[in-house]
Amino acid sequence: MSDTVTRFAPSPTGYLHVGNLRTALLNWMIARKAEGTFILRLDDTDPERSKDEYADAIREDLEWLGLTWDREERQSHRLDRYAAAADEMRAQGRLYEAFETPTELDLKRKKQLNMGRPPVYDRAALELSEAEKDRLRAERGGHWRFKLDQERIEWPDAILGPLSIDAASVSDPVLIRGDGQVLYTLASVVDDTDMGVTHVVRGSDHVTNTATQIQIMAALGFGHPTFAHHSLLTGPQGEALSKRLGTLSLRDLRAAGIEPMALLSLMARLGSTEPIVLRDTPEELAEGFELPQFGVAPTKFNEADLRPLTANVLQRTPLAAVADELRALGVPDEEAERFWTVVRDNISSRGEMAGWWRVMSEGARPDLPEEDAAFVREALALLPPPPWTEETWGSWTAAVKDATGRKGPALFKPLRRAMTGTDRGPDMASLMPLLRAGPKL
Ligand code: GLU
Repeated sequence: MSDTVTRFAPSPTGYLHVGNLRTALLNWMIARKAEGTFILRLDDTDPERSKDEYADAIREDLEWLGLTWDREERQSHRLDRYAAAADEMRAQGRLYEAFETPTELDLKRKKQLNMGRPPVYDRAALELSEAEKDRLRAERGGHWRFKLDQERIEWPDAILGPLSIDAASVSDPVLIRGDGQVLYTLASVVDDTDMGVTHVVRGSDHVTNTATQIQIMAALGFGHPTFAHHSLLTGPQGEALSKRLGTLSLRDLRAAGIEPMALLSLMARLGSTEPIVLRDTPEELAEGFELPQFGVAPTKFNEADLRPLTANVLQRTPLAAVADELRALGVPDEEAERFWTVVRDNISSRGEMAGWWRVMSEGARPDLPEEDAAFVREALALLPPPPWTEETWGSWTAAVKDATGRKGPALFKPLRRAMTGTDRGPDMASLMPLLRAGPKL
């Protein structure tokens, strides 16, 4: 075990989507490559929106992908740690109480923008007398803000390069809400330092958070981990993906028959200088991975890319990995090997196995064009009854050719369609021994 510690820190307020997966995977690969520790941290300080059902779904999705974690942490179990850190910062005068309502803050921002000024919190609360604070506290309750040192905050970002943010352009972050709820910024800082996190990789929407978190870490007497901000995903045309992420949940992709290694192989390299190469295990993806391979530009994600990758995964999947599913479909064990060899090159999801087995066990229900129907009937009269062998296709089509004079595609295509219901599929000679019945016309 090395000292490297990373974490994936989703809020259990919804299902994981491809954007979350990118973050999870990058952190996972860093930990695994360094033989370090990968923590699953549930950012569940919001008691209303956090649900056990989502926490379970997050674990299930990660398990499905094979992204193992060494430890699980829940922020809701660590509230006393956050309270202690808040006390420490209050004692230093770095945490101050403010009382503006969301509407008042909104109004202030609008005024600032109208005057062409950046919408940064004006620190009016620092001017309040104790008596005014008492009154406001009783009237509406107060929240707590961290007082930023107004200097440039700099860090070498492991993806974006040297970064610097002027703290004067950032509002003092609210760390504790009026109802006492600790917000992510504080909880995350305390956790990352307490848990010895060495690398924090997250989306570039967190860059400003990082700047404030660096100051909060310093106020608590700590250095900061290596930060890296990956670019956000867009759709294939560069359009924002944020609205569509709901439909790109990992569980929807799983339900659509996407194979885990197809998804991981794509997401582990997308937006990097490295080619997308299908790997057999998540560990293999970690081997060739380096953070600096990732670029700054938004990363285009096209769901359609997952189909051919999934087909490729299936082509290299051994029988043992699908044997149980085949048994459940009713494929007899002694036919499973042949079934899988014939079918795996012709499906783009496991779900399609069932369709092939139906054709084989019950016979196809082909949709034949008018001009082929009579021909097919004539041909079927020349087909001996099952069981068929690998030779059947050759001898049958030869006999049909002699009888009808048809040849080439005009001969083979309608017969394939009659026997399988589709125009594309496995080599017919290999398929025939698996067919137990002719078509239902
Ligand atoms: N819960 C935060 C989020 O999902 C975590 C961000 C971070 O990695 O620090 O955005």
